Amino acid sequence: MRCAALAARAARAAMAAALALCGSALSGPGNPPRRVELPEGARLRAEPDAGSRSLAILDSPQVLSVVEERDGWTRVLYQSFTGWVFQDGDAEGPAATTRRPQRSETRLARARSFLTTPHGVHPMGGFLLHTDVTDEATLAGLATVAAALPALYAARYGVDVPEPRTPDAVVLYRGPKPYARFADGDALLPTASSRGHAASGVAVLYVSPEGLDETRGVLAHELTHLLSRRALGPRLPAWIEEGLAEDFGMCRFPNGIPAMGSLRSRSEVRSERAAGGAALRTVRTQSGPLVSAAQLASAHRQGTLRSLSSLTSLPYDTLVSDSERATAYPQSALLVRYLLDGGFPDGAPRFREFLRGVAEGDSPSLEQLCSTLRVSPEALEEGFRGWLSKSY
Ligand SMILES: [Zn+2]
Repeated sequence: MRCAALAARAARAAMAAALALCGSALSGPGNPPRRVELPEGARLRAEPDAGSRSLAILDSPQVLSVVEERDGWTRVLYQSFTGWVFQDGDAEGPAATTRRPQRSETRLARARSFLTTPHGVHPMGGFLLHTDVTDEATLAGLATVAAALPALYAARYGVDVPEPRTPDAVVLYRGPKPYARFADGDALLPTASSRGHAASGVAVLYVSPEGLDETRGVLAHELTHLLSRRALGPRLPAWIEEGLAEDFGMCRFPNGIPAMGSLRSRSEVRSERAAGGAALRTVRTQSGPLVSAAQLASAHRQGTLRSLSSLTSLPYDTLVSDSERATAYPQSALLVRYLLDGGFPDGAPRFREFLRGVAEGDSPSLEQLCSTLRVSPEALEEGFRGWLSKSY
């Protein structure tokens, strides 16, 4: 998820061209073995599946013998083993292909293996839900979010959301334990304490013990990742990836669908014994996105808020780490909201123009964002901080 979109796009185009040059007929009796030229950086996988184990990344261009072809994947002989490489270029061109990812059946099968049996598969909006949850109110509440989300996403960010080749899948567990078992052995999950995860066309989450709105928030966050993958491509900077997901994930759900620009809040009341005393006192605590926004505004006033140049250059693994994400997620989402919800003059059309450029392969850098917004990085930082402080 790092900003190597242009290099990757060039490599994909080169791979598509190389594969096209070699033709599509496999070698047969009397024909010489078919060979394929792969560019530096091509990744060989154990199975014809984007979620399967990575065997090797080529450190130089190679001409390799083709063993087999299947569903856009080519199996090649490399050194002493064979591996599968995705033929990323079809009749619609490389850009269309990268925004129509293939769902990983390996990842889906592994996530499903932690469901209790029997479990079912239900259509949920344009997604396919695999779940052992039977509570009708929960399922209906989540289905409303899933059905509304693609249109809300397209309208809010001003981009097309292409249909996937196979419907994106959602695996929903009854509670946190099976999710923890799934997360434990998942190579794509960067952190141990997540509440959900989405990759390769599969979102995985559990019914939150904190209530339906919390589950709605996690579902909206994870589905936004799946939609971003289709709408904007595979290599977004971490702040955009998580900022858009949290822009949806932080919302309240007053009519069962996200109220864009709103912030959820949870209050918890518990009894606590005062230090040294026998008397119980009632303690009320607030938590959730509204509290996170207030904490960021307070950090700004205390001079400890992360700069936007630092936020927007955080590598993915750092931004999502347990130590950073409590502040980096809401700050990324609030920057999106500053631009979209009236804090920045003409921000909405210009931010949408920026996202459409990113979808077409433009750089997703802060410099490119500022150039599209027609503002200097310093003025953007000052405007954002002023808005944050005034709003929260
Ligand atoms: Zn996320």
